[in-house]
Amino acid sequence: MKFKLNTLLPTGAAMACLAVSSLAWSQDAFPNKSISLVVPFAAGGPTDVVARMIAIPMGKALGQTVLVENAVGAGGTIASAKVARAAPTGYTIFIHHMGMSTAPALYKKLSFDPLNDFEYVGQVVDVPMTLLARKDFPPTSFAELQTYLKANGNKVSLANAGLGAVSHLCGLLFMSQVGVELNTIPYSGTGPAMNALLGGQVDMLCDQTTQTVPLIKDSRVKVYGVTTLNRLAALPNVPTLNEQGLKGFEVKVWHGMYAPKGTPAPVLEKLNAALRVAMQDPQVKQRLTDLSSDVPPLDKISAAGLKTHLEAEIIKWGPVIKKTGVFAD
Ligand code: ASP
Repeated sequence: MKFKLNTLLPTGAAMACLAVSSLAWSQDAFPNKSISLVVPFAAGGPTDVVARMIAIPMGKALGQTVLVENAVGAGGTIASAKVARAAPTGYTIFIHHMGMSTAPALYKKLSFDPLNDFEYVGQVVDVPMTLLARKDFPPTSFAELQTYLKANGNKVSLANAGLGAVSHLCGLLFMSQVGVELNTIPYSGTGPAMNALLGGQVDMLCDQTTQTVPLIKDSRVKVYGVTTLNRLAALPNVPTLNEQGLKGFEVKVWHGMYAPKGTPAPVLEKLNAALRVAMQDPQVKQRLTDLSSDVPPLDKISAAGLKTHLEAEIIKWGPVIKKTGVFAD
């Protein structure tokens, strides 16, 4: 059977109209099934804690379940690449921290581009870090710690969550500023790393207050300092590393929420609205305050706010990391 061109046109036009209207319908109907919120580190760690905290109010606001999916490995870069390749429908979203801005300097061959493979939903939370040791680690002060580390060097184990994790970055900056080389042990997240610290299998860990505040308050770990320039309300007796001599030592872990490039604007708007509801949820705000974490101002919980911040952070951390000479092929 031969079709003449003009008999095809109405069919073609009809098909096009059908496609546009079904696309519009699917965006209007979004979400009509559960949404996967990918977390690039193991369950129980600080990123997972934040994800599970906001998944519930986001799900309520969207009328669908937001399911947390842990996709671990390579300091969060495996999950980043997975989300970059996911279908841009809004049903796969991603929460990641400042590792999104340090990965380009740490990995020579990165299988995703933080600035071109994602849409931006908004900034999520800023979290300070704490420098810890296992409870029975000998040094009892920061001054003693520096002396001990200089004498024992790589006999001391420092856990982290892999190249690109903030525990890795904090450790890197700490070692270079103190002038020591410790034996770094990577885990799939600082959830498992913390278990190793609590079990005495590793000596030290730099981790976020979203996981460490309760453990410090219960004296289950030894804490030497916080990585903010001012002391934390939740840990008033813990000095900053800056005031103990590591001048200007500051690592505050910002987090962002992303979707695959090409996710339609109406879908992104719904995701952003749900994220804003979650970040204004009284229980979420109180829990984050108790964990010394800050909810960003509403103008930063936006696509533009996150993209601008990410661009600035990539520029900021590139030279810092290059100076340490650390990178992965
Ligand atoms: N935030 C990571 C986690 O949740 C740890 C890290 O980046 O150091 O495991």
